Amino acid sequence: MKRAFNFSAGPAALPLEVLEEAAAELFDYRGTGMSVMEMSHRSDEFVEIAQRAEADLRELLGVSDDYAVLFLQGGATAQFAAVPLNLLGEKVAADHVNTGAWAKKAISEAKHYCRANVVASSEATNFDRVPPRAEWKLDRNAAYVHIIGNETIGGVEYHDIPDVGSVPLVSDMSSTLLSRPIDVSRFGAIYAGAQKNIGPAGLVLVIVRRDLLGRARADTPSVLDWKLNADNDSMYNTPATYSWYIAGLVFRWIKRQGGLVAMEQRNRAKAQKLYRAIDASNFYRCPVVERDRSLMNVTFTLADESLDKAFVKGAEAAGMQTLKGHRSVGGMRASLYNAVPEAAVDALIEYMASFEAEHGA
Ligand code: PMP
Repeated sequence: MKRAFNFSAGPAALPLEVLEEAAAELFDYRGTGMSVMEMSHRSDEFVEIAQRAEADLRELLGVSDDYAVLFLQGGATAQFAAVPLNLLGEKVAADHVNTGAWAKKAISEAKHYCRANVVASSEATNFDRVPPRAEWKLDRNAAYVHIIGNETIGGVEYHDIPDVGSVPLVSDMSSTLLSRPIDVSRFGAIYAGAQKNIGPAGLVLVIVRRDLLGRARADTPSVLDWKLNADNDSMYNTPATYSWYIAGLVFRWIKRQGGLVAMEQRNRAKAQKLYRAIDASNFYRCPVVERDRSLMNVTFTLADESLDKAFVKGAEAAGMQTLKGHRSVGGMRASLYNAVPEAAVDALIEYMASFEAEHGA
């Protein structure tokens, strides 16, 4: 079996151990004579899988009973609409920080339902940073403050949780959740599409403070109504059962690795190594200011853009996949999620050095 070094931003690398476990149980899940894929979501077996996954996730992140945990569908994109629908209540505005492509998508979706204030933006510097908290012009009457915890395309990450007072802080953590410990109690709501550090696509996690439930607009579609889904254990309609099951296996894998503290140590080591190699060269450049560089999505450009194609092609020939940056920004992007081993980063750094030696000035 040949496994690629997979730097995809999502869907992304999963731990081999998880895939092996899933393969071993694929045709006959623990003597049931069927795959988890074929099983009723109301069966005892699946309900146990679902409950265990939630319990393990709560343990990993230290989520208290004050928060509901939902396993929904529609990706983070559905949550761009669900957030205003569920949280506006009587309010007419929400505060947004514009840090790049995903922040913009969240803002344009929120505008369908409310006034989306852009309280700070790094657009003037090409989204190379998180605008410093001191510069945010918050509206005291906003229903919530919305941030993108990690801009997957731009490679910009909040390394500290901003203090926004008593207004609930809502974060899209699609590409950072489970990469390191976080203090969930600082947030009103967190959501994350699964296809980075959690599991396969088709699943989105929502972690929401229970006291914020119950204020959904009357015309909120049922599948997006957090309270309805919380009251029905995320089974108001058929959940993404197989993705939920694989996510449960991933949670157990993370626990076996030593939990989120161990994940952070590894992720910091991987990212630091790669950023160091980029900074040490005159050929590669990271467009993000040092303080706000993402641990998960390392973006970099080559001195000569016309070499991009050759770089990607050579990397593929050497077993490294999906290094091309997002089509909207160009350059390169190496996503270093939990399941990407340090050996993949070492191979990339070695390849970058040899490419530079061949093509650099
Ligand atoms: N937010 C962020 C930060 C993302 O990285 C992505 C997907 N890469 C999305 C939202 C959209 O997620 P989905 O395609 O699952 O709806």
